[in-house]
Amino acid sequence: MFSYLGVVIRMKYEIIIGLEIHAELSTKSKIFCSCTTEFGGEANTHCCPICLGMPGTLPVLNRKVVEYAVKAGLAMNCKIEEFSKLDRKNYFYPDLPKAYQISQYNLPICRDGYVDIDTGSGRKRIGITRIHIEEDAGKLIHDDESMSSFIDYNRCGVPLIEIVTEPDLRSSEEAKAFLESIKAILQYTGVSDCKMQEGSLRADVNLSIRPVGQKEFGVRTEMKNLNSFRSVVRAIEWEAQRQIEVIESGGSVIQETRRWDDNTGMSYSMRSKEEANDYRYFPEPDLVPVIIDGKWIEEIKKSLPELPDVRKKRYMSDYGLPEYDAWILTRSKALSDFFETAVSKSKNVKAVSNWIMGDLLRILKEKEMEVEDIPFPAEYLARLVDLIDNGTISSTIGKAVFQKMFATGKEPEVIVKEEGMEVISDETELNHIVRKIIMNNPQSVADYKNGKQKAFGFLVGQAMKETKGKGNPKIINKLLKDLLG
Ligand code: ADP
Ligand code: MG
Ligand code: ZN
Repeated sequence: MFSYLGVVIRMKYEIIIGLEIHAELSTKSKIFCSCTTEFGGEANTHCCPICLGMPGTLPVLNRKVVEYAVKAGLAMNCKIEEFSKLDRKNYFYPDLPKAYQISQYNLPICRDGYVDIDTGSGRKRIGITRIHIEEDAGKLIHDDESMSSFIDYNRCGVPLIEIVTEPDLRSSEEAKAFLESIKAILQYTGVSDCKMQEGSLRADVNLSIRPVGQKEFGVRTEMKNLNSFRSVVRAIEWEAQRQIEVIESGGSVIQETRRWDDNTGMSYSMRSKEEANDYRYFPEPDLVPVIIDGKWIEEIKKSLPELPDVRKKRYMSDYGLPEYDAWILTRSKALSDFFETAVSKSKNVKAVSNWIMGDLLRILKEKEMEVEDIPFPAEYLARLVDLIDNGTISSTIGKAVFQKMFATGKEPEVIVKEEGMEVISDETELNHIVRKIIMNNPQSVADYKNGKQKAFGFLVGQAMKETKGKGNPKIINKLLKDLLG
C-alpha cells in the first residue's frame, strides 16, 4: 500500500470529500418536549410520550433550537432564511420509535455559508451548503454475551444541527482542520459542547476520487457516524486507497453507504445509497412553519462572541505570539479562556503561553484530562510565572511546583513554602557546597584547568544537583570561577 509504485499511483488521483456534521445542541430541553437533554442517566428515564412518538401527542418546537441554529449559521457566514419549515423523513429503525424523524428537507434555516481553514499550503475557504435542525434518535446497545440488543431512548428528540459542506475538501488533513474549526466555532458560540466521546459531534464522510485534471466528480461513497478526528482521518485514507485500487484494477466504484470499523481499520459495504425519495419526505403536519424575523437575526448577530479566528489574529497582533501558538491556544475555547485569565494577571505573556503550550498541554494529554478538569484557577499559573520572574524559585523548580499544582490544586506560594523550594542565594551556604563538589571531582577540575569548558558545565550541574535544583546558578557560577582561579 505504501510502496513506491503505490505512491506514484496515488498521485494520479485527487480525493474529493464533503462532510455532513451532526452536532447536538446545548439546550437544556429536547427539541419538541421538555425532557432533559442531559447525557447519560439510567436508560429510558429522560423520555415522555412526545419524544417516544406516542400516537396523539403533539410536538412543540423549542425556540432555543432555532436561535442556536441561527447563531451557528451566522458564525459560519450563512444566509439565514426568514421562512423555513420542518419535514418528516420516513424510515424504520429500532432506535426511532415514531418510524420517522422530524428534520428539514428543502427549506433549511441556513444556507450558502463558508468557513476558512488553515492548511499546510495556506488558507482555504470551504463552502457550507446548508445547516438544518432535526431530532436525534435513540441508542441501540448490543450485548454479545446475552446475544440481545437493548434500546435506550434517552437521546430521542435531543436537538441536532446538521452542517453539510460543499465537496471542497481534498485530503484527510483538510477534513481534520475543517472539523477542528467547526468544533471551535460551536464551542465559542455555546451552540454545542462538542464532546465527541459522548457523541455530541459526529461526521459522515462522503468521498470520491478522480484522475488529476478531470473536471467531473467520480462516484462517491458515504461513511456514517465517525465520532473522532482520528477515525475520520483513518477512514478517509483507507477509503481513498480502496477506491483507487478498484479503479486501477478496471472496476468502478459503487454509490453506497459504508460502515467504518475503527477496530479493523477498514470500511464495509452496508447498503446501496438511499435516494431522497426513498424517505418520502413531506411537510410535518404537526408543526407550523418557522418564521425568523430580521430583528431577531440582528439580535442574535449582536450576541455572537469573538470567534476563534478573530481571537487568533488578536493574539498575534496584541501579544506578538507566533501564528502556530496563537492557533493552538484558540482551538479550544476553554484553553483560550484559561490563557486569557492567566495573561490578565501576568506581565509575562510569552511565559504564560509557553507554560500552556508546553507543560500544561503535555500533562493534560498524559493524564487524559480536559482543560475543565485543571484543579487550579488560571490565576495560579500567572503567580507561578511571577515566582520565577522575581527569582523566588528557579525555572527547574517551577516545573516541580507546576506538577504539584496539578496533583494538589494548591497555590504555588504555598507549595514553595511547604516544600522549602525557594532559591538558595546564601553565599556561605553555596560556598560550602561548591568546595565539596571541587573536592569530589578532581578529574573534572583538572580537565577544566586544561581548557575543557565542558568540565565547568559539569561542575555547575553537580552543584545544582547537590542543592536539589534550588541553588542560584549565577552565584554558583561565580563561586566556581573564583575558586578555580
Ligand atoms: P445526500 O443528501 O444524499 O447525502 P448530498 O448531495 O446532499 O447527498 O451530498 C451530501 C454530501 O456529499 C455533501 O457534503 C456533498 O458535498 C458531498 N458530495 C456530493 N457529491 C460528492 C462527490 N462526488 N464526491 C465527494 N463528495 C460529494
Ligand atoms: Mg447524506
Ligand atoms: Zn420527551
